[in-house]
Amino acid sequence: MFESLLIANRGEIACRIIRTARRMGIRTVAVHSRVDRRALHVAMADEAIEIGAAPARLSYLDPARILQAAKASGAQAIHPGYGFLSENAGFAEGCAKAGVVFVGPPAAAIRAMGTKDSARRLMQLAGVAVVPGYDGAVQDPETLAQEAQRIGYPVLIKAVAGGGGKGMRRVNDAGGFSEALAGARREASAFFGDDRVLIEKYVASPRHIEVQIFGDAAGNIVHLFERDCSLQRRHQKVIEEAPAPGMIDDFRAFVCDAAVAAARVVHYQGAGTVEFIADASQGLRIDRVWFLEMNTRLQVEHPVTEAVTGLDLVEWQLRVAAGQRLPLLQAEIKLQGHAIEARLYAEDPARDFLPSPGRIQVLRWPQREGLRIDAGVENGGDVSAHYDPTIAKIIAHGADRDEARSRLVAALTQLRVAGPASNAEFLREIAASPIFASGQFDTHTIARDFAACHAVQKIDASHVRLGALGLFRETWLRLHVPGRALQAGWKDAPGDASMSIIANDQSFSCRIVHDGTPSSAIAHYEGASQMADFLEGETRGNIVIAAGCVFVFDDCGVVRMERASPGLSGDHSADGDGAVRAPMHGKLTAVFVKPGEKIARGQPIAIVEAMKMEHVLAAPVAGVVAEATAAGAQIAMGALVARIEFSEPQTEMDNG
Ligand code: ADP
Repeated sequence: MFESLLIANRGEIACRIIRTARRMGIRTVAVHSRVDRRALHVAMADEAIEIGAAPARLSYLDPARILQAAKASGAQAIHPGYGFLSENAGFAEGCAKAGVVFVGPPAAAIRAMGTKDSARRLMQLAGVAVVPGYDGAVQDPETLAQEAQRIGYPVLIKAVAGGGGKGMRRVNDAGGFSEALAGARREASAFFGDDRVLIEKYVASPRHIEVQIFGDAAGNIVHLFERDCSLQRRHQKVIEEAPAPGMIDDFRAFVCDAAVAAARVVHYQGAGTVEFIADASQGLRIDRVWFLEMNTRLQVEHPVTEAVTGLDLVEWQLRVAAGQRLPLLQAEIKLQGHAIEARLYAEDPARDFLPSPGRIQVLRWPQREGLRIDAGVENGGDVSAHYDPTIAKIIAHGADRDEARSRLVAALTQLRVAGPASNAEFLREIAASPIFASGQFDTHTIARDFAACHAVQKIDASHVRLGALGLFRETWLRLHVPGRALQAGWKDAPGDASMSIIANDQSFSCRIVHDGTPSSAIAHYEGASQMADFLEGETRGNIVIAAGCVFVFDDCGVVRMERASPGLSGDHSADGDGAVRAPMHGKLTAVFVKPGEKIARGQPIAIVEAMKMEHVLAAPVAGVVAEATAAGAQIAMGALVARIEFSEPQTEMDNG
């Protein structure tokens, strides 16, 4: 086995690969771009090498920089994860030339399956049914239109070099063909530099079913059963599961055999996935399922297969890459229970799922039996606008589908994430729906039945009252820093104040009556009132104060509230000595920084929990952490949590 492994990726998959490598006693080398210096995968690896600027083509997508890092670190193998260079045959060859093992299939297999037309032709040779269609070399619009007519509408135009749903257009009738063709071609040449297309019959009631396969250098090939990935948004997977709901023995045998046959034609080695599309309008039938494509890498959704087989697919990949035989024979691979994965993204359902990058201000993972969370960021970390907006994958495993499903719903209900917008609530709605429970869905289900849950969350009067109390408390704590004079404009006298709150771009005015302390405050709004002891009655974590905002979590998601004019604001710790002190008595539940670490102004330093409320302490200045207290302790008001030494404004811009 290798002694050292470079992971040419980032985010959750890099972290996941590091975990397995570490368990196997392999030294891990992370690579990262300039904006990823503080990323989780960098912190987790034994060694980290900065390889370039933020845009992926200047870092994660640049084979030369990655090979250079491998050389510099003495890494014996490179795991590409998925995306980036994972299906780049040239990179696989580059690794071989540089004497580093590429953890993936042979370059020839990547190439053979790399374009949809060549994959279709190979599969036909192997006797695997492909979707009725046209994948010929003649590409003039007249020929293509004739072929579409012959196949019969509706048809799907696909970029031959496509991926990720790009360059794909559904056409319902001959009238729409030429415009759709032009659109698909434009997108195909923009994304893949290749405007060739193929045409497929558009499958009615489509279900996406894929089979995990594995091969080794000795020519052994096995399958690890199927996954269902039919819950998609715009051809992108949202929720995946294993096994497929409603699966029947002959259908499973049919697709698994076809997948193994597909792998065999290309002398496959390592992990791969053979994707099929089934017309499920009459249930799963072996005469209504066709090969779609083969992905010559590990898939995002591989954890559901790991859950139901009890195997570690990354370990298998490393073993195969090191020249070992597959650890198990086909007959030894057993399917147990059911697993479902939901992809948690920093994206805004209310804004058409636009990515919503930014700093994670609240992140609390559910703690449940049968739950696995593959995260790429941690609390206080950034979701960068440069890369995909994955926060984590949440995988629930149970004895059967119902148990896995209810565990997933419970997990999504317990999850607390805020800062960037996320699709958490959208995932919960789907997972908890009767449609999902029934197992009767296809790739159109999300668009058809879940359009309504993209709405902006409604603010009700109780949100406003809770928000006002939380913000009052936040301001009070910020101004009452031990050892510092109270800010001008604030009197610790009983009062009757009005507070303006902004939530979802609307503003609300709430009256607060208090005797000078937050615990005495009562918020009056729309004829009802709420006392400050609301916190006692709240389930832990329903209200979180972080970064000067109050986040209220409830059944419908999260509402973020901030003061309209922070009239009483003042940066409580920006008092020049770089000390970050506890603003109240409480428990230091988390400390995010270590001595020696470089930090930016505003970066979360620690969380103090008191009165069932969390208070996130942010760095008052940019600099280097000189000292930091360990998490877990009870601390007194005014106690030092961390000290930051100022540093010159630096680096981010120096190197361009
Ligand atoms: P990409 O490589 O761009 O992801 P795929 O060929 O894997 O494209 O297809 C992505 C998704 O598009 C599938 O999971 C399915 O939902 C839909 N799709 C693909 N081909 C068809 C088809 N012939 N009929 C209906 N839906 C299809």
